[in-house]
Amino acid sequence: MTTTRARTVLLAAPRSFCAGVERAIDTVERLLAAPQRRDPIYVRKQIVHNTHVVAELAARGAIFVEELDEVPAGATVVFSAHGVSPAVRAEAKRRELTVVDATCPLVTKVHAEARRFAARGDTIVLVGHAGHEEVEGTAGEAPESTVVVGDPAEVAALEVPDESRVSYLTQTTLSIEEADATIQALRQRFPQLHGPGSADICYASTNRQQAVAAIARHSDVVLVVGSQNSSNSLRLVEVAQRQQVPAYLIDNAAAVSFSWIESADIVGLTAGASAPGVLVDEVIEKLRTWGPVTVREHVTAVEDIAFAPPHEVRRLP
Ligand code: SF4
Repeated sequence: MTTTRARTVLLAAPRSFCAGVERAIDTVERLLAAPQRRDPIYVRKQIVHNTHVVAELAARGAIFVEELDEVPAGATVVFSAHGVSPAVRAEAKRRELTVVDATCPLVTKVHAEARRFAARGDTIVLVGHAGHEEVEGTAGEAPESTVVVGDPAEVAALEVPDESRVSYLTQTTLSIEEADATIQALRQRFPQLHGPGSADICYASTNRQQAVAAIARHSDVVLVVGSQNSSNSLRLVEVAQRQQVPAYLIDNAAAVSFSWIESADIVGLTAGASAPGVLVDEVIEKLRTWGPVTVREHVTAVEDIAFAPPHEVRRLP
């Protein structure tokens, strides 16, 4: 038996889609809608890490595969927003696939830095989560010269051929606070450490983390809409929890448990960069079934970034 209670939903802004995710989804949508298209559109890996987005595109005809050997020779394949290693590009060429690259331009920038650091003979310390697709893609630019570290403890255990030739890069969706701690440990260990020209943690991750920290301070509980494999969404949960507030990652409205919000007057709400805004609206509707809701938005930044589509998409009629 649930009791009715009036609540305020404090919405973080910015939240939900970033420019890189918009571009990647738009790429697949435009390929699927191309008037002359007869052949299937394959997508290597989830185009972005969100189950709702992937299900919608699959329902419209996109075929998601894990690896290129599942794509027939000569077919069209889209590379996801997280990027791919040169080995994957070479494999696509060998199999004569038509590639449409939806890698986020901010991930492409990190790849370019990896090539530059490797070319001058540095060991590259890539700060990120081992096994994440973006990390695999970036490390693949210079696999012989790259080591992945996740935290300061792993920095202490690093062994490099020349301590005066070490550079670092980071995954784009890390927590700013945790990445700073690891970079600080790297600087102490390797005083001549080189870094990227500008921060690798992208504007969207930075803005969404600052926005969720701001609402968490005023909330009794925080809900983050995003999928379990979404790095940037998981970081939003952690940032909120660091404000000593209970925070939960939810794929959609159905995942919200009444017990989490039962005694809450203020529910903080946000969404990761890969989660559609409509899912946030659905969470608010779900909360309304448990009592009257007033929605207030707390804006910490305004985003006006857009990326041009891949040139294969620009050429479509
Ligand atoms: S989270 Fe950042 S790096 Fe990832 S797609 Fe969005 S803008 Fe690009």
